[in-house]
Amino acid sequence: MSQTADQFKKLVAHCKEYGFIYPSSEIYDGLSAVYDYGPNGVALKMAIKEYWWKAMVQLHENIVGIDAAIFMHPKTWKASGHVDAFNDPLIDNKDSKRRYRADQLIEGYMEKLQAKIDREVQKAAKRFGEAFDREKFLAESPRVAKYVAQIEQVRQRLAQAMTAVDLGALKAMIEEYQIADPETGSRNWTEVRQFNLMFSTQLGAIAGEEGKLYLRPETAQGIFVNFLNVRNTTRQKIPFGIAQIGKAFRNEIVARQFIFRMREFEQMEMQFFVRPGTEMEWYEYWKAQRMKWHLALGTPADKLRFHDHDNLAHYANAAVDIEFAFPFGFRELEGIHSRTDFDLKNHQELSGKKLQYFDPELQQSYIPYVVETSIGCDRMFLAVMSQALVEEQVPGQGNTRELLKLHPALAPVKCAVLPLKRNDEQLVAKARAIFDVLKYSFDCQYDDTGSIGKLYRRQDAIGTPYCITVDYQTLEDDTVTIRERDTLQQERIAVTRVEEIVRQRVDMKSLLQKL
Ligand code: ATP
Repeated sequence: MSQTADQFKKLVAHCKEYGFIYPSSEIYDGLSAVYDYGPNGVALKMAIKEYWWKAMVQLHENIVGIDAAIFMHPKTWKASGHVDAFNDPLIDNKDSKRRYRADQLIEGYMEKLQAKIDREVQKAAKRFGEAFDREKFLAESPRVAKYVAQIEQVRQRLAQAMTAVDLGALKAMIEEYQIADPETGSRNWTEVRQFNLMFSTQLGAIAGEEGKLYLRPETAQGIFVNFLNVRNTTRQKIPFGIAQIGKAFRNEIVARQFIFRMREFEQMEMQFFVRPGTEMEWYEYWKAQRMKWHLALGTPADKLRFHDHDNLAHYANAAVDIEFAFPFGFRELEGIHSRTDFDLKNHQELSGKKLQYFDPELQQSYIPYVVETSIGCDRMFLAVMSQALVEEQVPGQGNTRELLKLHPALAPVKCAVLPLKRNDEQLVAKARAIFDVLKYSFDCQYDDTGSIGKLYRRQDAIGTPYCITVDYQTLEDDTVTIRERDTLQQERIAVTRVEEIVRQRVDMKSLLQKL
């Protein structure tokens, strides 16, 4: 198993073992691409949502929040284009009976070409030793140049085929590049077909097409259909935004990467309504703003990058992804899209309601343009976890520890109170008394179910920034030791100072102040 595959497996196992994520309905062997969050998972997820919500709504006077229903009038999805165009190109392998997304198979082929370049670089680095100049090699090696040209050609063909929804062209590429089923190596493929990703259900007792409802595949439309309501009830002036966090559902064709691609997931979306013609300024503004939000968590800059879309969605005139270096490579974490007036215009047409804004400065009415930021909460969770989980040597000791280096403001438990000995009534009573005070300030955990070393390890593994240890000296002078998760430094402090010290680091305020 490759190192990264191994890393990813460890991460998935860690999520389960420490109560972050379980497969859904696991006693029935689970449900594909659906997951449940456990006690630590739900706390981390809530903290991620809180960070996003505060960054959007609390810090921007001109952004307000809503919580729209998952079910929406079926016309919504006609207007938004999802009924006609929210499709992925599906291809089946006739031998393995496995189903794939044709575009992803082609992307996989491009990744293989990239891997060839990486191997050339490695070989050359070995050959030239210290004198190796990576940039020079990349610029001058004829082999690298050949692969780069091939990747570029495939990229362009794929973008053209996807934009034109040319399913025949996708199939032709799969045949021409001799792309095989990644699991079995078979090249016995069906034709490429369109597959609509929306789940449908029935409303009440109305049978047939008339009662057909969709589970929303994105939260954005709940915002668009409420544009007038929000505008009329808040008197916001353009530019202003509406933010929402909520569930979305997509019947993904391939969903094999844990919580990266789920069939039920949560989105955090913000639609920013602007004057037509100013959308590119706001697009740049939100690109910068969102990257800042990620970096403030301490994620190294080289793990995040922008990636412009090769083919634009049916609604966009500019689109970029923020990609994160997941254990399986750089992948989309968040999308920033300039959606023009596509959605409001179509809703206006289909509903017959005027979805316009009277601009007092221009003295004219128009349908606003929209710049949106859209991030999957679960994907963010995976990014945070994969960045945080490390195995490290304990300084001064021969053993290693599993450590979750979460930003303290996101940690599920902010502070654990641990008696040095679990069978000592006085220590236990004192530790409980300290816990009973701290629990009003933040998520705290009292634990006396093991030796102190074991308790520390358990807190390290769930990312608790501070452990407070109650020992015999505590009974004498009301001091405790406070142990910092990452440095392992222990300091003796007065019990009365614990709250203040922990709060300083776990408070979300310092994170928000970086934005
Ligand atoms: P992808 O290309 O990975 O399918 P997308 O471009 O369709 O994603 P958007 O429609 O832009 O995704 O959705 C915005 C965000 O919602 C994505 O950046 C991602 O974080 C999240 N998201 C989308 N689909 C899923 C899914 N199936 N599971 C988890 N998160 C998702």
